[in-house]
Amino acid sequence: MNRNTLERDLKKVGVSLKGWLPVLQCDVCKHHWEPFSAAVGASAPTVRFDYWQCKNKCNAGAQPSHELQTALPKYIVINDVPGMLFGEEDREEFEEYVQSMDATIIPNN
Ligand SMILES: [Zn+2]
Repeated sequence: MNRNTLERDLKKVGVSLKGWLPVLQCDVCKHHWEPFSAAVGASAPTVRFDYWQCKNKCNAGAQPSHELQTALPKYIVINDVPGMLFGEEDREEFEEYVQSMDATIIPNN
């Protein structure tokens, strides 16, 4: 999944990415959410297939592209920096982004 294609398709249903942050934001009401269900036990958070829907139903009637419906945003943490990937080809870019950050300003949760 090409990140730029996905970002464009998300825009069509009124949703924005916020950089690498593992959140999506509604263009209408500005509500933002994590497109993953809660982690259970030791397993990684899993994605909801309706992950692109605003919880306030702003885009409930939108028709997502096939790419959007089959994309599986993946939660990732590198060096305590959380991010969201849409495919393995994103990983390298995210790693470079993490390395470019000043480690001293990363909040430690
Ligand atoms: Zn909304």
